[in-house]
Amino acid sequence: MRCRDARAWLAEEHSDNEAETARQRSEVLAHLAHCPACRHYEQQQQRLKRLLYGNFSSVSCRISTEQIMQAVYLRQRTTRQLEELHQQQRTRLARLQTLSSLFMVSLFILTASIPVLLFLLFFNQPELLVRTLLLLSDAVDAFLVALTYLRLGLSFVSQDNLLLAALAFLLLLLAAVWLRLMRAPQEA
Ligand SMILES: [Zn+2]
Repeated sequence: MRCRDARAWLAEEHSDNEAETARQRSEVLAHLAHCPACRHYEQQQQRLKRLLYGNFSSVSCRISTEQIMQAVYLRQRTTRQLEELHQQQRTRLARLQTLSSLFMVSLFILTASIPVLLFLLFFNQPELLVRTLLLLSDAVDAFLVALTYLRLGLSFVSQDNLLLAALAFLLLLLAAVWLRLMRAPQEA
């Protein structure tokens, strides 16, 4: 056997259980016994294989199949949870849209029905209409009285400088309290 053939055989992968392979192996071994250069080549080849195999095995040790399966499972679960969240969001949005459109429709019907109701009331039960109007006028009266009192109080306050200053201070205090209350959740 020549050196070239022996090295070609050493560089290839061989299965163990074939008669042809066994015959070639014995020939190569016979060649290696009297050829130091090919023995050296064979040792290099072995070292290279060990290095490659060692790296592969260390990689496969670091990431086991179980870990991979766990990662895949976690990813699937996360994807499923995200899908569920999206679905919930869509459902909520759809419900909100339905509710808001219902609200708008009912508001429209209510607004449109007020003149119709008044019209019907006017024709069918004039007494009820009069009573309602009287009640409304009472409310307006009460509002006017309150307005008058407010104007009186304001004129009284504006005449007294100290009282005006106190009122301004109170307003400032209220504004400060309101600002603090509004800012509190952002700080927390
Ligand atoms: Zn040789």
